[in-house]
Order: sequence, then structure tokens, then C-alpha cells
Amino acid sequence: MKICFATNNTKKIEEVKAALGSDFEIVSLKEVGCNEELPETGDTLEHNAFQKARYVKENYGVDCFADDTGLEVEALAGAPGVYSGRYAGEPRSDERNIELLLKNMQGLENRKARFRTVIALILDGEEFQFEGIAKGEILEEKVGEGGFGYDPVFCPEGYEKTFAELSLDEKNQISHRGKAVRALIEFLSQRKF
Ligand code: IMP
Repeated sequence: MKICFATNNTKKIEEVKAALGSDFEIVSLKEVGCNEELPETGDTLEHNAFQKARYVKENYGVDCFADDTGLEVEALAGAPGVYSGRYAGEPRSDERNIELLLKNMQGLENRKARFRTVIALILDGEEFQFEGIAKGEILEEKVGEGGFGYDPVFCPEGYEKTFAELSLDEKNQISHRGKAVRALIEFLSQRKF
């Protein structure tokens, strides 16, 4: 079964390929001939994930899935949420996004936050949705060198370390994306029969 993962992030594709085994052929956007930027104009993660997946299905005729992730901070009413990647504007910068986040959270006692990943799947003409959530807290300064995005200021629940201090394997086991991808894989594994 051939499915396109609507992303240009080769790391994400490798991760899913490794987890799915040989029953599914996961192909990238480039491999289906899609070289343009996918539309992502919604104000929710769900909207954007389905917008990307439907675009690929409609224009390239392949079954596909797309993901969208955001950091939702309780005391900021869920911001930066769907705008996490471009919180501090263009060009996108993890450094400036973190700076702005810490500035907007200065003096706030409630540091609760969560990462949320939504995966939209279009398979045999039907649509399915999967979700993964990682709860935690935003620190007052950066700790750790690994990861990307907001990892250096995000301390997952039950840990004394930030995501940026965990190995990739450790992070995948508890992360929003890891959970959403495992839910997708579980579903696909059952579908193949
Ligand atoms: P995307 O939907 O996976 O492209 O994620 C959108 C934005 O959310 C990224 O540009 C990052 O700022 C942030 N983000 C997503 N996943 C993570 C993560 O695992 N750690 C830290 N930040 C993340």
C-alpha cells in the first residue's frame, strides 16, 4: 500500500518508514511530484493538517497523511498554538520564538503547557484523524542543546529535564509526535488485512 507523507522533513519520513515496515510504501512529496509549498492557512492544527492532506489527494491522486503541531500554553489561552513556527514572525526563528514566549510569560506563575500533534489521513476516500499530546511546563530560561523549536524551555511532566536534554529515542517515547505517529501506525497496521 502506497501512502504519501505530506512533508518535506526527511527525518519525519525516515521515522515513520522505520516504524511501519515493508507492508506500506511511504513516499515523500517530491516522490509524488509535488514541489510546491502546501497551503496552511487555517487557525487550528486540525484545519491545517486536513488542508495539506486534501491538497495532495486532490492534486496528485494519492492516499496521504499530513501532520501539524503546536505548543499550547495555558496562561496564554493556548498561544502560540497553530502559529508556533512563526510566533515571532518571518523569517522563522526558534531563537526569537523562545525569546518572545519567555517575554510573554514573564511573571506568570502558571507555566503549564502542552505540545499537540494532529495527523490527518486520507485513505480509500475516507478521512481519519489522530492526535498526540505531551504535557509539561515552560521554564524561565533555556536548558539543553538538543532537539529543536521550543525544546530547550519545555520540561515534560514527570521529568527534571527539558526535551532538549533527552535523547531522540527518549523524546520519541513520550512526545506528542511520537504518540500521534504510533496511533497512525497502529491503525494502518490493522488496515492492511
Ligand atoms: P510542525 O507542524 O511539525 O512543523 O511544527 C510547527 C512548530 O511547532 C515548529 O516550527 C516548532 O516551533 C514547534 N514544534 C513542533 N514540534 C516540536 C517539538 O517536538 N519540540 C519543540 N518545538 C516543536
